[in-house]
Amino acid sequence: MSLEDIRDRIAKAEADAGRAAGAVTLIAVSKKQPNERVAAVLEQGHRCFGENRVQEAAGKWPEFREQFQGIDLHLIGPLQTNKTRQAFELFQVIHSVDRPKLAKTIARIAQEEGHCPDLFIQVNTGEEEQKAGILPGDADDFINDCKGMDLPIKGLMCIPPIDEEASLHFALLAKIAERNGLKGLSMGMSGDFEKAIALGATHVRVGSAIFGERDYG
Ligand SMILES: *Cc1c(COP(=O)(O)O)cnc(C)c1O
Repeated sequence: MSLEDIRDRIAKAEADAGRAAGAVTLIAVSKKQPNERVAAVLEQGHRCFGENRVQEAAGKWPEFREQFQGIDLHLIGPLQTNKTRQAFELFQVIHSVDRPKLAKTIARIAQEEGHCPDLFIQVNTGEEEQKAGILPGDADDFINDCKGMDLPIKGLMCIPPIDEEASLHFALLAKIAERNGLKGLSMGMSGDFEKAIALGATHVRVGSAIFGERDYG
């Protein structure tokens, strides 16, 4: 696969779902990828990337930003509260608002800094013990609390359980977003982004299908 193949597949999925061309933002997930591969995608003009660790992002993106204009960086992994300020410096969007303590910390730092990244609330749609996120049954209250703190909540994010049909989780996330008046849906990865687009994804997070297998060395 290549960036162009993925863009074509997204365009086709948008059309098949009767959605507008360009309705879906492609986040190229560059975590654990060698810098040459990331640079190659930047050279092709792509500017929207996702990282799941603050530390790793801090180690590579400031340098890429000196070489390439207009980079849009999304945090898609867990955020420790003590790294919130650093996350504000690095990321335009945080997809992993997953607990009240983090929401409060973000609200405080947004006050102090006078700006805030766009935010998505992560929902643990599969109610998995080991996975971060707000439980579906707590989502409406948490969304309201965030709105009450004036946080710029753009939508919801989920990572379905690996052994379950992803579409069920995408549909659940879409339903929670809809009843709370949220437009953004961050859902769909390399193996299932077309299904996510069919169910309303506005942001798909695609890593290995663009860059190849990750370097776990
Ligand atoms: C790594 C990661 C992705 C990308 O996964 P691929 O299967 O490589 O497309 C998407 N979302 C999150 C939260 C991730 O951590």
